[in-house]
Amino acid sequence: MTRRFDGRRLVIASHNAGKVREIAELLAPFGIEGVAASALGLPEPEETGKTFLANAELKARAAATAGLPALADDSGLAVAALGGAPGIYSARWAGPGRDFARAMADVHERLADRPREAAFVAALALAWPDGHVEAFDGCVEGRLVWPPRGDRGFGYDPIFVPEGHDETFGEMAPEAKARITHRARAFGKLAAACFP
Ligand code: IMP
Repeated sequence: MTRRFDGRRLVIASHNAGKVREIAELLAPFGIEGVAASALGLPEPEETGKTFLANAELKARAAATAGLPALADDSGLAVAALGGAPGIYSARWAGPGRDFARAMADVHERLADRPREAAFVAALALAWPDGHVEAFDGCVEGRLVWPPRGDRGFGYDPIFVPEGHDETFGEMAPEAKARITHRARAFGKLAAACFP
């Protein structure tokens, strides 16, 4: 049976400031405070899963061992013509220096003149200290553009135009992006299932 979350605080098991901010904003309307894992000094587990869901689960479980329920996200850009790459390796394509200008150029160069359909995919997992996990995924379809446009988002935002829009995620107002993201869609499912 689906377990509901009836607390007021949980750990956001991410060390990515952009994601922590977006997740905290999704939690706020439910009266839930999200505490960043980095603020609690929690280490980042190695992402050894083969899917977004598996990685979200392992990050949430690791953070929940500190005693509070923990919410983790695993997400990335899946480019159809690249067989779903960079996928779960989206962060790793930017290297240790988190060089997303390089990672975006890499995607662009590998694609050459192949079709530019892509999707952002997110999995969210909520883990309790006793090991119980609820997990959900969501995606937003779109296409890739070159050169990158806009500096309002993070990661691959400047090259992704969501379906039905003209602006990249990097150009959109944060509130407009937040309503339609992969994370918002996964979060909608999580909230419907787990938040009172
Ligand atoms: P991870 O989930 O921390 O392994 O990293 C996912 C990576 O995917 C991030 O570092 C970003 O590069 C990329 N990513 C995930 N969500 C978004 C988004 O909303 N916009 C841009 N890039 C994203």
